[in-house]
Amino acid sequence: ALTAGIVGLPNVGKSTLFNAITQAGAEAANYPFATIDPNVGMVEVPDERLQKLTELVKPKKTVPTTFEFTDIAGIVKGASKGEGLGNKFLANIREVDAIIHVVRAFDDENVMREQNRDAEFVDPMADIDTINLELILADLESVNKRYARVEKVARTTKDKDAIAEFAVLEKIKPVLEDGKSARTIEFNEDEQKVVKQLFLLTTKPVLYVANVSEDEVSDPDAIEYVNQIRDFAATENADVVVISARVEEEIAMLDEDEEKVEFLEAIGLTESGVDKLTKAAYHLLGLGTYFTAGEKEVRAWTFKRGIKAPQAAGIIHSDFEKGFIRAVTMSYDDLLQYGSERAVREAGRLREEGKEYIVQDGDIMEFRFNV
Ligand code: GDP
Repeated sequence: ALTAGIVGLPNVGKSTLFNAITQAGAEAANYPFATIDPNVGMVEVPDERLQKLTELVKPKKTVPTTFEFTDIAGIVKGASKGEGLGNKFLANIREVDAIIHVVRAFDDENVMREQNRDAEFVDPMADIDTINLELILADLESVNKRYARVEKVARTTKDKDAIAEFAVLEKIKPVLEDGKSARTIEFNEDEQKVVKQLFLLTTKPVLYVANVSEDEVSDPDAIEYVNQIRDFAATENADVVVISARVEEEIAMLDEDEEKVEFLEAIGLTESGVDKLTKAAYHLLGLGTYFTAGEKEVRAWTFKRGIKAPQAAGIIHSDFEKGFIRAVTMSYDDLLQYGSERAVREAGRLREEGKEYIVQDGDIMEFRFNV
């Protein structure tokens, strides 16, 4: 499964947020094969459609799909110099599919700023720079290594791969040297293939989380720190999610959904920060949801957008993919409009999709396969 890693300077609220994520955690009984890793927090992906489907189909059981956040601890400053934990920090980032960069955007004189100590005030931009610089330096080292290796081949032979790689390296190197992330560069499709092979850190999709004060979370537009973060994120085409980790911590301690809604309403919110973050990360990674809907179970499944029906079937079970014949498919919207599978079929909207069908978000699928 794809995962997003939570990074940030010390004392910005990462642990508070991660604890809230773990507390909000997916109901273990529904996911018996989930790996148990203390650094991974698995949450259920909020999806209003699942509730509607449940009302319509009345299954015995409803199972949401899940998303995994990874807590990336470790020192930050000096990481690119490869000192002890620093290496591990970068290696952990290398393993995740997207980066969730938590930035302190709350004033609280009781909470010290560990790094950038010399700065007197909370300074989101300085904090963002500190982390990004480490990632940029680490990438620069990888790029320089490759550069030294392919330069001669690219310049003196007709080796197409070396020439293509060298061209990409020449594009990336000056940007990193300029202190910018490689994700600010636009690559064409061929270049993207080369970039993927470089396994860089600053090409990973990123999402900034502005951790704001519990007193200000209902009106983030009025927070100057948030606007600074938004302006910077825009230069990377990145999204910003505003949360208050303190609030999340308190929500996570409530047992009943009703209590949570009331609590959120009381502070002027409609959705928890963890839910917001989960949706944003899901979107960032290009994920979509399809459903299976039977009397026994209505269930949501996560897929990477662009995959074809057999691969989608394989998410449920590898046998479904191996023996794939076809997928009886209807859209969520059609089922809602017509009210039952039968009515959807009578309206001529029930489809038999084959091996080349590209699965769409909101598809309700039933796979036919050979055993
Ligand atoms: P980490 O080092 O990034 O994991 O940071 P922590 O989660 O340990 O938080 C550092 C301190 O900041 C703790 O004392 C938290 O209670 C406090 N903190 C975290 N989020 C908020 C917040 O939204 N508002 C306030 N006032 N304090 C917060």
